[in-house]
Amino acid sequence: EMQGGVTVVVLGASGDLATKKSFPCLYGLYKRDLLPEKVHIIGYARSKFSREQFVKKITQHIKTDSEEDKKKLDEFLKFTEYISGAYDKEEAFKDLDKNISDWEQKNKLKKGQKNRLFYMALPPSVFLSVASGLHNSTRTTEGKNRLVIEKPFGKDLESYKKLNSDLAPLFDEKEEVFRIDHYLGKEMIKDITTLRFANMLFSPLWSGYHIKSVQITLKENFGTEGRGGYFDEYGIIRDVMQNHLLQLMSVLAMERPIRRDANAIRDEKVKLLRSVKPIKMEDCLLGQYTAANDKPGYLDDETVPKGSTCPTFAALAFYINNERWDNVPFIMRAGKAMETSKVEVRIQFKALPGILFEDAPHNELVIRVQPNEAIYIKFNNKSPGFSDDCLLTELDLTYKNRYSNLQIPDAYESLLLDAMRGDRANFVRDDELEASWEIFTPLLHRIEKDKIVPEKYPYGTRGPAKLSKFMDRYGVVHTPHNQYQWPIQDVA
Ligand code: NAP
Ligand code: NAP
Repeated sequence: EMQGGVTVVVLGASGDLATKKSFPCLYGLYKRDLLPEKVHIIGYARSKFSREQFVKKITQHIKTDSEEDKKKLDEFLKFTEYISGAYDKEEAFKDLDKNISDWEQKNKLKKGQKNRLFYMALPPSVFLSVASGLHNSTRTTEGKNRLVIEKPFGKDLESYKKLNSDLAPLFDEKEEVFRIDHYLGKEMIKDITTLRFANMLFSPLWSGYHIKSVQITLKENFGTEGRGGYFDEYGIIRDVMQNHLLQLMSVLAMERPIRRDANAIRDEKVKLLRSVKPIKMEDCLLGQYTAANDKPGYLDDETVPKGSTCPTFAALAFYINNERWDNVPFIMRAGKAMETSKVEVRIQFKALPGILFEDAPHNELVIRVQPNEAIYIKFNNKSPGFSDDCLLTELDLTYKNRYSNLQIPDAYESLLLDAMRGDRANFVRDDELEASWEIFTPLLHRIEKDKIVPEKYPYGTRGPAKLSKFMDRYGVVHTPHNQYQWPIQDVA
């Protein structure tokens, strides 16, 4: 816990992540009185900005709905400043240190209160030189040092290990390093642990004895839109599956942790990841979007190398080698330029043995991560009235209907607060990452070595034509809309 005071340094302050997330979330925490008593925020990057330019930049994504909010923002800006400096010069990091020390002195911070949180909103190319500059010249010896880092954590197992061993002497893995996977800060993903382990209703059903398949789906209804150059180096699997969706899967599938603390939870996640079987090529369907509906195809993006075979869509089926999940497919799907934007988990239950209701649709539990947070269970009910028909309906927890004054914090807001409090439950430990690269590296290398050509799909669709057959293979059932409507249904 950071007591008394903290200086937060956002490195790469001129960039996309810093302006969209880091500063707005720091402001959000300040507005809710969640920052330590004495706080100092420094944006650091090479760009030269006047005070006015800096303020304009970091406030462009901050919403102020009331006079009170505006007043809070003015206060926030009073302790927020910009420093322009290099990423590779010792002098620059010494100057940064001096600036922070002066503030600490001016505010009469005592030993133990001089905490420093370094947030790396920087591309991986400068990451190590900055970490080393901070280590040599900007660390405190009179408080806590925390280094918050962002994906990509390497490109495969080997590069990940190299990155980690280079970082290890600079910041302490157990005490100082906080690896963000912002999916772990999302409300609905944090909720999965409660849903599973605080409910007799769900806990006993959570296994292959009752569950037929699990789908984890991420869709974006936009393409790379001019940022394809960056994306092309990674592809959809590295971009969102090896990290975000795999984290989601590990929370969904892990065994019950012995306690709710960070290491107990992460121990279970690692154990789960180590039980995941290698992905076979036949359990992998790759796609790349083409121009349609007046939208450009992936290869039309001028920043994308000609003839690129980079997948913008992938469907992968995982199997987990333990008693709970034997033979249950976990189907992970992610795609750009799809028909809609959503992130959800869909758990399909087995058919009930016995033939009293022969064609009754299977039960399904849906966890809607975004947008419009909800948990709903599709179940069979007698059609109300004179009919004895079986009718699929739902038990529905839609957050915005159920909770008044609902304020779901941004994932980054919640994680920044955790980092200041020293709560690591929602940060990724090194052995988790190693296990996740072990799962994905053979597949990624195979795709690249064999130059597997992705199936085409038109912009704005559910994916390649082969997707239906792919889903069928794992026994995924689709209930057509004439059998299930939402929200209201006239009873015949
Ligand atoms: P960015 O905008 O491309 O870069 C941040 C800043 O770094 C730039 O404003 C620039 O500042 C400096 N920079 C850029 N390229 C550089 C280079 N080649 N050499 C030296 N400095 C360079 O990056 P970002 O999108 O904010 O992402 C930052 C980190 O967060 C990355 O690791 C990214 O993978 C991760 N991330 C981003 C997002 C997102 O929403 N953007 C989401 C998840 C993770 P100066 O030129 O002023 O120094
Ligand atoms: P749905 O949107 O109808 O999708 C159900 C499943 O069918 C999804 O897995 C979907 O695939 C698949 N699917 C859709 N079109 C398909 C096609 N042409 N071929 C094969 N599979 C197809 O979802 P639902 O759960 O039945 O709910 C219906 C609607 O009611 C949705 O809009 C849902 O958001 C809404 N609803 C909302 C709440 C709530 O917010 N509380 C509660 C109940 C229902 P994909 O995974 O590819 O999309």
